[in-house]
Amino acid sequence: MKKLTALLMVFIFTFMLIGCSGNRNSTEPADNQTAGNTGDTKFKAGTYEGTAKGLGGDVVATVVLSDNKIEEITVKGDNETEGIGTPALEILPGLMVEKQSVKVDAISGATVTSNAIIEAVTKALESAGVDVASLTPAETETGSGEKTEETIDTDVVVVGAGGAGMTAAIELKSAGVNVIIVEKMPMVGGNTVRSSGGMNAAETKVQKSLEVEDSVETFIEDTMAGGHNLNNRELVTVLAENSSDAVDWLESIGAPLPELSFSGGATNKRIHRPAGGGDVGTYLVEHFTANLEKLGVEVMLNTEATELITNEGAVTGIKAESANVNYTINAKAVVLATGGFGANEEMYTEYKPELKGYVTTNAPGATGDGIRMAEAVGAKLVDMEQIQIHPTVEQTTSILVTESVRGGGAILVNQSGKRFTDELLTRDIVSAAINKQEGSYAYIIFDQYLRDNLAAVEKYVEGGITVQGNTIEELAARIDVEPAVLSETLKVWNTAVAEKKDGEFGRETGMENDITKGPFYAIKIAPGVHHTMGGVEINTDAEVINTDGEAIQGLFAAGEVTGGIHGGNRIGGNAVADIVVFGRVAAASALKYIGQ
Ligand code: ADP
Repeated sequence: MKKLTALLMVFIFTFMLIGCSGNRNSTEPADNQTAGNTGDTKFKAGTYEGTAKGLGGDVVATVVLSDNKIEEITVKGDNETEGIGTPALEILPGLMVEKQSVKVDAISGATVTSNAIIEAVTKALESAGVDVASLTPAETETGSGEKTEETIDTDVVVVGAGGAGMTAAIELKSAGVNVIIVEKMPMVGGNTVRSSGGMNAAETKVQKSLEVEDSVETFIEDTMAGGHNLNNRELVTVLAENSSDAVDWLESIGAPLPELSFSGGATNKRIHRPAGGGDVGTYLVEHFTANLEKLGVEVMLNTEATELITNEGAVTGIKAESANVNYTINAKAVVLATGGFGANEEMYTEYKPELKGYVTTNAPGATGDGIRMAEAVGAKLVDMEQIQIHPTVEQTTSILVTESVRGGGAILVNQSGKRFTDELLTRDIVSAAINKQEGSYAYIIFDQYLRDNLAAVEKYVEGGITVQGNTIEELAARIDVEPAVLSETLKVWNTAVAEKKDGEFGRETGMENDITKGPFYAIKIAPGVHHTMGGVEINTDAEVINTDGEAIQGLFAAGEVTGGIHGGNRIGGNAVADIVVFGRVAAASALKYIGQ
């Protein structure tokens, strides 16, 4: 049956290609452009750029939008491997224009490059304010449009190809069982690929080699304190106790994390990062993808799980659908790894109405589907109202300005050009302070010294979200702040840095560098939804628990879809620890359950 699926995929793909070449020069709008009927425009016309990591470096997409159509997509990936990545570069942009959507299949054998192209185009569209998830692929079939039915049998089906799902699938396949991943988006990675920090782990080889003293106990206590002690201590214990092993496992699959630094809420240097300080998310997703390809795990992209199948209370598979097929996937066990619900405003405002209107830093697939599917078979939900907002998110692009910018010396000012808080208090407190300012936004202000010393800033400059001025006064004029006021704010702040005493707001950290080296920069920011700490309840074996407190047979869950590990606030570095540790626990439990 899997062969049939593969054949079908090839057929669909070939069909799309035929459709592509046939319609390339058509001036007619694509079928899915409904806005034309209403006279409304669908897009903000213009040219937009997005960047993602490919095999050999950055893949850059340029997308030209008219009011109602994706007119043109060009993609550059100069360092993609000749013959491996290049077919994807040649084929996918045209296919996406044809489909008027990013929901296209990756090119077989070029998954990493395909993924990077789709991600770069998604980012470009998002920067134009487009709701990418709602762009349904234009119909390219000549048929009646009716879906076909297909049944697939496998050992384990993993729902969601983010970090948790891919970790579980690698472990399952390595143990010799058949596993299929279904992923509703056209690319793998979910929120995981957006993670820039690293992975917390204690008592690791890396810490020992760098003579950093740390302990599992301190890791547990830091996580509990960071989560306002709302966390499930048993789950936190599993997280901490298995973290060192998880780092070793990553090394064993070719993804070592040899660098170490401090991160918010950690007593010791505990956050493990890739060599050279790159983003941990793209790094891990690239390696997970390569491992899945090597192991021959089938990842069904553009395939959305809609329902869990049960038999006498035990979960025995899923229902899923792609554009053309309704699937019944029968499995001995299901691993839910669908992530959180930070991209579903309706859902998060149900639990926290005050978040209405907030932008989100989340990938478009984070819509809480797994939580709802599990709930439908009796799962208990925990901590659903615990939703983390991040204080510094650029609102038109949803680009998150990392805490390291404030840690490196930046300040926040309001539209009057005045500081209003200790900028390095916890995320919830700084967010609340910003919301109290006129217009509920602020500017993050920094200088060339910080830009020269923090690689992340380049992304903001490239993303077009920074405003620049050669002098403070010039910068002030460009953001409509009274120049004399901003100048005075900087004078007071620079004196505070020199004297190591912030008389105004008592800030004590991130005061190593003053803001004196031009040019000067500002980014307009406001809080955005970042992480949903709640989700389905699991036990220490990653079994999903029902409302009677019993494990639901055959159903396992890992990652942001679960609740309880992070309590009332997730500390930086614990999301990656969560997906790797619990992805592996879920796989081990599923293996045991199916008798392997
Ligand atoms: P985690 O960090 O827990 O691994 P991620 O957000 O990284 O979570 O990944 C979750 C993945 O699950 C995303 O790629 C998302 O698109 C996918 N997903 C969410 N809902 C569904 C669904 N109904 N069917 C298939 N995939 C889904």
